[in-house]
Amino acid sequence: MDRPRPPPLSPKSKEARERDMRENIWWGVRDLTFLYPADLADVPPVVANALIGRDTDGSGHTILKFLYTDHTTYCDIDLVNSQLFRLDENVLLCVSQDANDGCGEKKSYSTAFTFELRSEDECTRFYKKFQHFKRTMTDEKAGKPLENGSVNPPKSKFDNKIEASSAKMYFHYYGQLLHQQNMLQDYVRTGTYYAAVMENRADFEGRVVVDVGAGSGILSLFAAQAGAKHVYAVEASEMAEYARKLVCGNPSLGQRITVIKGKIEEVELPEKADVLISEPMGTLLVNERMLESYVIARDRFLGPNGKMFPSLGRIHMAPFSDEYLYVEIANKALFWQQQNYYSVDLTPLYNSAFQGYFSQPVVDAFDPRVLVSPPISHKLDFTRMKEEDLYDIDIPLNFVASVGTRVHGLACWFDVLFGGSSVQRWLTTAPGAPTTHWYQLRCVLAQPLYVMAGQEITGRLHLVAHSAQSYSINLTLSAKMWGVGAEQGGILQTSSGKLELKEPYYRLSQPQPYMVQDQQPPQQATPLFDFVEAGKSLTNAR
Ligand code: SAH
Repeated sequence: MDRPRPPPLSPKSKEARERDMRENIWWGVRDLTFLYPADLADVPPVVANALIGRDTDGSGHTILKFLYTDHTTYCDIDLVNSQLFRLDENVLLCVSQDANDGCGEKKSYSTAFTFELRSEDECTRFYKKFQHFKRTMTDEKAGKPLENGSVNPPKSKFDNKIEASSAKMYFHYYGQLLHQQNMLQDYVRTGTYYAAVMENRADFEGRVVVDVGAGSGILSLFAAQAGAKHVYAVEASEMAEYARKLVCGNPSLGQRITVIKGKIEEVELPEKADVLISEPMGTLLVNERMLESYVIARDRFLGPNGKMFPSLGRIHMAPFSDEYLYVEIANKALFWQQQNYYSVDLTPLYNSAFQGYFSQPVVDAFDPRVLVSPPISHKLDFTRMKEEDLYDIDIPLNFVASVGTRVHGLACWFDVLFGGSSVQRWLTTAPGAPTTHWYQLRCVLAQPLYVMAGQEITGRLHLVAHSAQSYSINLTLSAKMWGVGAEQGGILQTSSGKLELKEPYYRLSQPQPYMVQDQQPPQQATPLFDFVEAGKSLTNAR
């Protein structure tokens, strides 16, 4: 096919060039490389200066101009028909659908080129400026007044709902290799991902994959091992640098992986994905609010009929009885019952301290025999749910007690499904199953309930997301009327608690007494040697 001449290369008058140089901020560009049109694709990369500004030649459009450093050649791209993608920390891809050929006559063609800015920071600012101009042009078209004053790039969905200080700490945490190692060393977790990918090669072979929150890049490397055509590994923290190193050090796989540093809510990718892979699960499945990013990634990048690994999550819940745990928590506040602490009466703070300890969900591995009834579950379908569905999760509770006992609260755990087309595999964090770094979670109520075998326990678990990437938990449990007078209805006992998922009590730091084999209860939940190390490393987000 006879290709039209490329859009750029319009000679400008010396004065116009000088005026542009004087009046605008120019960005230093390395390696401006045309991918298309074909007749420019073979030209070696050039060094240039770029600016985004109004076209002074009459159209009034905002254009992206490149002035080659030899000062002889201009290249103008009209922003109206262009899209900019961030490929790497300082590499951008521009695709323009329609452009002027500079000879006075309009022809339509596509052009695409990559260019590299001098630093990641410049790249971010350039990208935001480009998007800002595109947005204001759209506003202009819609007849809205233009913003006056400085360029204020739009906030992303992530920035709109998450406090900057929380995000900073969160990504700082994941930027450290020791925390990635903690996850990689959870062999139940990583091994299940590996098995789920390798058993379902058919879903990966020849496919484009996006790894949402790639961390060290391990899942991208798994996807490449399973034959993915290309993997985009998106990671917001400094871990992206290490992922790049790992990928480069595994060249046979790494050549099919592009690491992109940025939030999944903010980066641009050059193509749609056939598969999304991610490990977005926090304590109680939803802590960290990363599932929302996973759902946003689905809406932004997953093509029609695309697959998600994992595709479904379930929160499981059952009432439990654990006298030792209850007493341990209640006793923590006893300190505040001292009336003569260096001659100071501490008791005015006793109630607050008591409430404070009960507002911490307990993270540890427990014996499933503490459960008082069979669990119920709440499903989250990652392939269909809306991001907003995760802002407020309201779960009605209904159980029948299997034994007569004191109920101390609600035990929770989760599992996720890899719904591959060859093999369906669950990753479970259930008590009694091999322990993971998520352990299990228990919400302990300050006021226990007394139940009889066969008695109905009802209630509500209400999770409300907040801007510190976690949830407030409201729990109510009630034991229905039992025995004489029950037919008159009514609730006999009810107990409520408000807990903060962001502030759990990691009950793992005490070495457990060693039990010889035949003393161990059946289905002993946890390899005991794990406790000390896990307690040390589990002091943050997961
Ligand atoms: N996929 C890796 C890491 C999982 S931990 C593995 O399985 O080992 C989750 C990772 O997602 C963290 O490294 C965190 O920094 C990253 N992350 C969380 N939210 C993100 C977001 N909105 N955009 C990009 N990365 C994100």
